[in-house]
Formats: sequence, C-alpha cells, structure tokens
Amino acid sequence: MSVIIEDINSGPPPAPLKAKDFKGKVDPDWCAGCGDFGVLKGLQSACASLGLQPHEIVTVSGIGCSSNLPGYFNAYGMHTLHGRSLPVATGVKLANHELTVIATGGDGDGYGIGGNHFTHLARRNVNLTYVVMNNQVYGLTTGQISPTSCHGMKTKSTPFGNVETPINPITSSIMNGATFVARAFSGDPKHMISLMEKAIQHKGFAHIDVFSPCVTFNHDNDYKFFKPRIKRLEDEEHDVSDWKAACEKAMEWGDTIYTGLFLHRQQATLEDQEAVLAEGGPLSFRPIAVTKEKSQQIIKRMM
Ligand code: SF4
Ligand code: MG
Repeated sequence: MSVIIEDINSGPPPAPLKAKDFKGKVDPDWCAGCGDFGVLKGLQSACASLGLQPHEIVTVSGIGCSSNLPGYFNAYGMHTLHGRSLPVATGVKLANHELTVIATGGDGDGYGIGGNHFTHLARRNVNLTYVVMNNQVYGLTTGQISPTSCHGMKTKSTPFGNVETPINPITSSIMNGATFVARAFSGDPKHMISLMEKAIQHKGFAHIDVFSPCVTFNHDNDYKFFKPRIKRLEDEEHDVSDWKAACEKAMEWGDTIYTGLFLHRQQATLEDQEAVLAEGGPLSFRPIAVTKEKSQQIIKRMM
C-alpha cells in the first residue's frame, strides 16, 4: 500500500478537480427536493475548491437517508452502523492522520443513536469534520420524531404531538468542547459551502449542523419555514470566541433562526497529543512489528 501512495505522490501535481469530479458512480435515491442533494453538492464543491483529491478523502456515515452519502461521493467511503460514524471516523483518522476525514449523517443517527459518540468526539477534539443533515425527523423509517423534532410536532409516532423537548445541536456541541461549531441551511448553498471549506480547513473537531429539509415526512420545517427566518451571523456582529453569545444566538428559534459560524477556537488535537503519531508518518504505512511466522500463528489462532 505504501508503494501505491508513494507512486501517487511522486508524479507531477494532479490537475485541480471540479465538483462534478467528486460525483460517485451511484446516483442518489433521495426523494425529489430532499435537502440532502444540496449538502452532497456543497461538500463536493468544498472539496474541489480546497484542491483536494479523492484519494485524500474518506467519508464515513452511519445509517439513514443522509447516511447513504459516501456511496454518492467519489472518494474512499464507509457506510457503517447506526450512530457509529464518529468512532469509525476516529479510527480512520488515527490510522492515517494525513487523510481528510468527513463524517456525515442525520439527526437521528448522530444526536440520538450516536449521541454518546457526538459528546466524546467533541471533547477529544479529533481533527475531522462532522456534517449532520438535520431534517428534524427520522426519514428512512418513514417519519417518526427524532431528537431535534419540535415540541408538539405531529408524526405517525406522535399523533397527538411530540411531548419531548428537542436538543439543540449547537449548544450541545459547544458545551461538549467542540472547537468549530456552525449551522447552515441547504437552501443557502453559497453560505453552506463557505462554512464547509472553513470546517475542513479547521484543525480540530468541526461540526456543521445543516438544516436539510425532509420534503416527504416533515411538513412543519420545510423550505418555506426556514427561508424567511434564516439570518446569517456573518451579517451581524458576532464574536466567534464568545461561547456565551454563541449559545444565546443558537437558542433563538422564532422569527429569527441563525446560521453561520457560532464558535471557533484553537486547541491541541487528539492526534497532536498522541506521542506515537508524532514521528514516522501514518500508522497504516509503518511496517508491522511482528514477523511473518508470528502473524501466521496469530491468524491461525483467530480462525
Ligand atoms: Fe430526503 Fe425525507 Fe426522502 Fe429521506 S424521506 S430522501 S430525508 S425527503
Ligand atoms: Mg433525520
């Protein structure tokens, strides 16, 4: 494998790519109008504008409509278990910390089933980007309430209205210790792409919660709901180092709902603090410290 990577890196620099070059071989099977189309396109544009190549990127997802994204993206990709994108993405990053690792998924996958991992990734400050396509419902299973569904929302699992209080992904992320916390709207692609570019460039855990409407199962929080309410933080004075102001802005949920970069700070990453990664390049290219005979014995014992 190291020989292959050396070959890739030893030739002339590769030609810059366009967003369409990151299009996968499989076309998305999402419903027409699903917000996830915009997120996929946005990520492809961000990777192209940052000059990345497919072999430098790994997308990792959990389960759900949005978690099918790695199949539609021309890069290395892993479609893992429900709620488990972040631990797998951590493993990828620690095995080869030179890769650009992008975890993707939905609100049910990331904040419900995988809520535990979301907390710990943020505090560990692993250098990866996490894009959550938040449609405030479980879409793949045909429309049940998710952790971000609004109070009172009627679904097939809550015919009399949701009695639970939704979590706020932005304040949660900030309190958990994330070093880059943003919110985007897939109906505002230019702004979303600029946040994705910054998130990928950020050294540390970068979390973007994207309002990505489910046009089939959430008729409360659709494009018509968001469009008149969305205001960009960048159009106002907002200090991205002020976590209290960031939380106050993130909790607005009425005529105004903010998108943009809420919090941005620098802190040593998990990889930076791991002494074993400091020298010798990525672990995945280092020789295995066992003899061929020993490895055969181990394989035999395991089989
Ligand atoms: Fe998108 Fe909702 Fe359709 Fe799933 S069910 S593809 S989230 S619109
Ligand atoms: Mg969802």
